[in-house]
Amino acid sequence: MPARPRTVLSLALAAAAALTLGCGSLPLPDPDPAPAPTRDTRPSAEPSGGVDGTMTVEEFQDDAGSAIDTAAEYWAAVFADSGLEFRPVSRIVPYLREGEVSCGGEPMPANNAAYCPDGDLIAYDADWAVAAFRQVGDAFLYYLIGHEYAHAIQDRLNVTHRYTIDHELQADCMAGAYLGDVVRAGRLRVDDGDLDELRTGLVAVADDPDQPWFAPGSHGTAQQRSQAFFNGYEDSLTACDLTD
Ligand SMILES: [Zn+2]
Repeated sequence: MPARPRTVLSLALAAAAALTLGCGSLPLPDPDPAPAPTRDTRPSAEPSGGVDGTMTVEEFQDDAGSAIDTAAEYWAAVFADSGLEFRPVSRIVPYLREGEVSCGGEPMPANNAAYCPDGDLIAYDADWAVAAFRQVGDAFLYYLIGHEYAHAIQDRLNVTHRYTIDHELQADCMAGAYLGDVVRAGRLRVDDGDLDELRTGLVAVADDPDQPWFAPGSHGTAQQRSQAFFNGYEDSLTACDLTD
């Protein structure tokens, strides 16, 4: 597939909106044997809100497809380098209503995204993702897909953690490694100032400062998430404690 340099980051995060990534917190069984990989980035209906003049749903879907393809190619190469067989995530499932997609019997909530081992799929609230895309820029989409894809990789490598926060921060690190490596490889382009803007975006997906780190749903403070992401971004997967 040809290289596709593009502006990754164009953040204009005015306020720290309550963007949460609740992914990976559902204790689920191992996935069933995966069917042939498919990709469906088209929501079952056009997300509400229409086109605001800065970002179209079509652009969103195009970038979602690009982010997914880029992540799959990245991890395929990493696995090949390690002599491991790679199996891409089976399905990408946008949804429009809470409960429209379930994961292991649990309804997928609005305003979130998750990797679901039961079915080996990444699901996301399409309205929420488009809104975040418009607010934060396409960097958020690459980060979002990178983070959820990292959960799929953790699952494939049978990586587990005692505390949710360690699993989530490792996924942030892996998302950073993925983005940093594809930028270094010239597959994506980051413009001046974009990294500072991404740092601002990571604040938006951080836990409240008073949330206990050991709580089942904890993902990390803004500082923790930023540090994990940029450790991976700068030092690649060696920063992510995948091989100890
Ligand atoms: Zn997660």
